Amino acid sequence: MRGAFVLGSPHFSFPFGTVISMKKAKKRARRALLGRSMKPVRIACVNYAGEEIDDRTMGKLTAALQKCYDEHFLPVWGYPVDLYVTRKPKPTDWQLVYFDDASHKNMLGRHELTHRGQPISKIFVKALGGEPVSLAASHELFEMVLDPMANLWADKNPNTQYAYEVCDAVEEDSFRVGGFDMSNFVYPSWFEPFKHPRGTKFDHKGTLKAPFSMTEGGYVIKKVNGRKLIRAFGSPEKRRRFSKEDRRGHRSEFRDPQGVHHPGRRASKRRG
Ligand SMILES: [Zn+2]
Repeated sequence: MRGAFVLGSPHFSFPFGTVISMKKAKKRARRALLGRSMKPVRIACVNYAGEEIDDRTMGKLTAALQKCYDEHFLPVWGYPVDLYVTRKPKPTDWQLVYFDDASHKNMLGRHELTHRGQPISKIFVKALGGEPVSLAASHELFEMVLDPMANLWADKNPNTQYAYEVCDAVEEDSFRVGGFDMSNFVYPSWFEPFKHPRGTKFDHKGTLKAPFSMTEGGYVIKKVNGRKLIRAFGSPEKRRRFSKEDRRGHRSEFRDPQGVHHPGRRASKRRG
């Protein structure tokens, strides 16, 4: 029965005589179901904010992010990732990088969304104010995985598109994992403008009641009639807080033709 898939047998046979255990076969099947028969995306976590985050905290934070990802995010969205702490990411790694602020010397040479063609997310620790680093890091991680180039949009109706960001609508809302605050996130149903059965969850904490809705601390980016980019806020207080934030380099700025960016290497060279 070479190459056949025999239910109930303790081993599966694959072509070329490879025999793998049931455990491995299940793992492979799970990965295939998740849409990725290849290895998980490897994400290098780089700490350039040594004054704010010491090595021990960095290790604990990264482990908690992985645990949060595997137990809460992966079952819903299905993209496996492997996080690891390093000073020297490999060229094929995606990156989650912590800076103290935007003037850090390693900021130059890093494109805003990609570095050597691979996606990158940045957390500016000093700009966070009272927001926990883990909350910002999980927000960036979740959004980078689903839309690494910040170029996806979901149609609510023929005239209105919503940015494919999974934390913005529930920003400031969190749950605890391993002693850290992690960002709430929306579910696929949040992007689906049809009638859902009662009890459908639209976000992980189960706060929202309809697609494209938001919490009081949330915001959304949308495009109306294919051109005008609009930010809508969950409350007037959120709008005020948002306007005071240092948003430079945040992925939301990339959606906006007038967005505030940090110069990459090319831009700074051009300037001389
Ligand atoms: Zn966001």
